[in-house]
Amino acid sequence: MAEVLAYHWVFLLLAAPCVGSFLGLVAKRLPEGRAIAWARSRCPHCDAVLAWRDLIPILSWAVQRGACRTCGHRLSWRYPAVEIAALGIAVWSLAVTPGILAWASAVLGWNLLVLAMIDLRHLILPDEITLPLIPAGLAVTWSLNPDLLPHHAAGAVGGFLFVVLLRWAYGRIRGREGIGLGDAKLLAAAGAWVSWQGLSGIVLIAAALALAGHVIWNALIQPRDLTREIPFGPYLAAGFWLTWLYGPIAIGPP
Ligand SMILES: [Zn+2]
Repeated sequence: MAEVLAYHWVFLLLAAPCVGSFLGLVAKRLPEGRAIAWARSRCPHCDAVLAWRDLIPILSWAVQRGACRTCGHRLSWRYPAVEIAALGIAVWSLAVTPGILAWASAVLGWNLLVLAMIDLRHLILPDEITLPLIPAGLAVTWSLNPDLLPHHAAGAVGGFLFVVLLRWAYGRIRGREGIGLGDAKLLAAAGAWVSWQGLSGIVLIAAALALAGHVIWNALIQPRDLTREIPFGPYLAAGFWLTWLYGPIAIGPP
């Protein structure tokens, strides 16, 4: 058993691109309310059933240069992109978190990736993904150090209340909804993973990235579209991920 555990990283790296394929499926089907089953995949153009050799993550796409084997229709670059991203998350997790804890990091990273993908396209953060992250964070905390559990539970409550208060204040001032309850549940999950000490840093990172993203969007992509709703989830997810891996940002004198 010890020998197998020593090579856990090999399994993580092998699993990652397959998880990526699954995340692509979840990101596409969950917002549409469709069942996420392991149904046989078909070409969206000619409906040909894809064989196992067409479904090897990353490699199949590269070998066939992103086209269907039957009809030659070009398949979306999103498929290999999410598989590569999932692999990247596994490598990053192994590089930063020690030992078997890398699996917890990778699972967290994969969940944040799929949340960011869904929020970017649909402006929602599904409860099916945000809510389970709360007990998962508390369980990881408990396995590492049960004494820290109250701090992380306080983080979950504090993260939720922070966004709810922000939402209330924004509604009073601007008369419209500024931040969603999905963001509140995501920040609650973040509090469960990184404890209340990490929350201010996450909000700081998310706000800075959102501002940068907004400036870049307006400058390069779609000028004058100031009414566009900005998904905040991807930025919160980035702050959550960095704080989990590298610890809370220290504010004030060292
Ligand atoms: Zn086809």
